[in-house]
Parts: sequence; C-alpha cells; structure tokens
Amino acid sequence: MSADIIDGKAFAAEVRTRVAEHVRRLTDEHGIVPGLAVVLVGEDPASQVYVRSKNKQTVEAGMNSYEHKLPADTSETDLLALIRQLNEDPAVHGILVQLPLPDHMNSDIVINAISPAKDVDGFHISNVGLLGTGQKSMVPCTPLGCLMLLRDRLGSLSGLNAVVLGRSNIVGKPMAQLLLGDSCTVTIAHSRTKDVEAVCRGADILVAAVGRPQMVTKDWVKPGATVIDVGINRIDAGEGKTRLVGDCDFDSCAEVAGAITPVPGGVGPMTIACLLANTVTACCRANGLAEPD
Ligand code: NDP
Repeated sequence: MSADIIDGKAFAAEVRTRVAEHVRRLTDEHGIVPGLAVVLVGEDPASQVYVRSKNKQTVEAGMNSYEHKLPADTSETDLLALIRQLNEDPAVHGILVQLPLPDHMNSDIVINAISPAKDVDGFHISNVGLLGTGQKSMVPCTPLGCLMLLRDRLGSLSGLNAVVLGRSNIVGKPMAQLLLGDSCTVTIAHSRTKDVEAVCRGADILVAAVGRPQMVTKDWVKPGATVIDVGINRIDAGEGKTRLVGDCDFDSCAEVAGAITPVPGGVGPMTIACLLANTVTACCRANGLAEPD
C-alpha cells in the first residue's frame, strides 16, 4: 500500500470539539442552547442506529436533542403536522427527517415542508437552489464532510479534475456543486456513463458514491489521486458474519492512490459532525449571531 489514509474519524472528532466550543459560547454569552429535532418514521434498523448516534453526539456537543419516533403507519398528514409544529418551535434550530420514509409517503413533499432555515440536511429545494447558484445555504452533510476532508488534504482544489461517481440528490449532485464551487473541473459519472473506468482514471479527485460494494479498483484510479469513498455497504464476511465495505476496493485502490478514506472511519463520521455544525450555523443565523467558520 502506498496511499496515505485520510482519518475521517479523527477529523470528525476535531469538528465536534469546535462545535462544542461554539455551543458553549452561545450558551454562556447568549443563554442560547442549539436544538436539533430528529424525526424517525418506522423501524428500519439502520435508520435506528443512525438516529441513536445523532442523538448521542448532539447531547455530547452540549445541544438539545428532540427525538420523535413515529410508527411506520403514520399518515403523511400527521407527519406534516409535526413538521409544522417543529418549524414554529423557537427551541428547535435544526430539523432532520430520517430517510428513507415508508413507501406511502412522498419524501419530496415531506422534505420541502421543513423550513429552509431549519433544514440542516440541506435537502429542501430552496437550499438546493441556493447551493447551485453559489449563495449561502444549508449544505448537505455528507458532501460537506467530503469537501472538508479534501480541503484539509489538498489545500486549494482549484483547477483539479474531480470525478463524482453517482448522481443522487443527497450525495452525488451536491458534491459536484461543492467541488465546482471550489473551482474544480467536475465530471459526474453514473450508471449510463460510457467507459466509466477511463473517466474515473482521469480524476485528481475521485468521489465514489454508488452503493456498489468494492466496485472501484486500482485500474479506475489515477496514480497519486485523492480518493473519497462515500459508500457504506454491508457484505457477507463468512461464518454468518457481515462487515462494512465502501464502494472502493480499499486495498487495491490504496496501491495507486495518493490518499484514500477508509470504510468505516472515513466519510461516515464526518456526516454527523457536519450535521452538528449545520445545527449551530442554523441557530446562529436564527439569532443574528456570527456563524462558525
Ligand atoms: P443512490 O443509490 O441514490 O445513487 C447511486 C448512484 O450511483 C446513482 O446515481 C447511480 O446511477 C450510480 N451507479 C449505480 N451503479 C453504477 C455503476 N455500475 N456505475 C456507475 N454509476 C453507478 O445512492 P446514494 O447516493 O444515496 O448513496 C451512495 C452510497 O453512499 C451508498 O453506499 C450509501 O450507503 C452511501 N452513503 C453514505 C453516507 C455516509 O454518511 N457516509 C451518506 C449517504 C450515503 P444512476 O443515477 O444512473 O442510477
């Protein structure tokens, strides 16, 4: 292996420390405690784990966490009523509705019911538009975490060739917007891309967000490239056990990349750290106070 490992776990811990310091100042100097409301509909096991983790880290950062667990058969009307109530609650600065929602709900309608100022996931259509036009917005947590890791590793990203593998609304597209905002030359590749391997091999920065376990191997990676692996895939590890892997074959890619994020311990921890940071940002904006850097 020749690549440096980008330690997202350690970086996320630093972000959380900075968030906690900002929260302490808000509380001590202004008597304000930022609050994050997380809404979970149904019993999806992975979502339950994420929500528990978000709740724990929110409290550890000194913020208030409001958890709303609703049964899977909750009507969309009732969920929208809860969102309206949270929109109006001055103690709640950030609202997150855990996805995926049950099939009988329209997630676009639900997400767009969240007040854009409290939309700490950055999925509301207003925030998507603001990001796309380079205006101040709420930035989706996972791409924001990737950008922070890239800036930390590379300094200026200006002029670099970036390939984003995947075009989802929650990762691929906002990631591409952020990289464009940092003056990269951006290509978005997806399942219809011709010779996707060659496209990826042209990348100084390769962000893989496809949800295909270990799809990207060393033949896809330009020597010295920085590889950010967003994928979280659980695969069979034999003897009835499972393990988490990314969208990149770590050992193979690490032979040629300059730097690479591991799975777990790369992008994953950054997502919640950025959620906490977004909640503090939303709180500062709501109170007309200086935002964290
Ligand atoms: P989606 O399934 O919404 O999107 C996957 C994208 O990958 C699509 O654009 C699809 O193309 C593209 N794709 C699929 N197969 C191929 C292929 N063979 N070649 C090229 N492109 C392909 O996934 P998400 O964006 O939601 O998530 C991606 C991964 O990131 C998942 O593993 C997920 O678990 C993980 N994730 C991790 C997070 C974290 O905190 N670290 C947060 C969110 C997601 P097309 O549009 O043409 O179908």
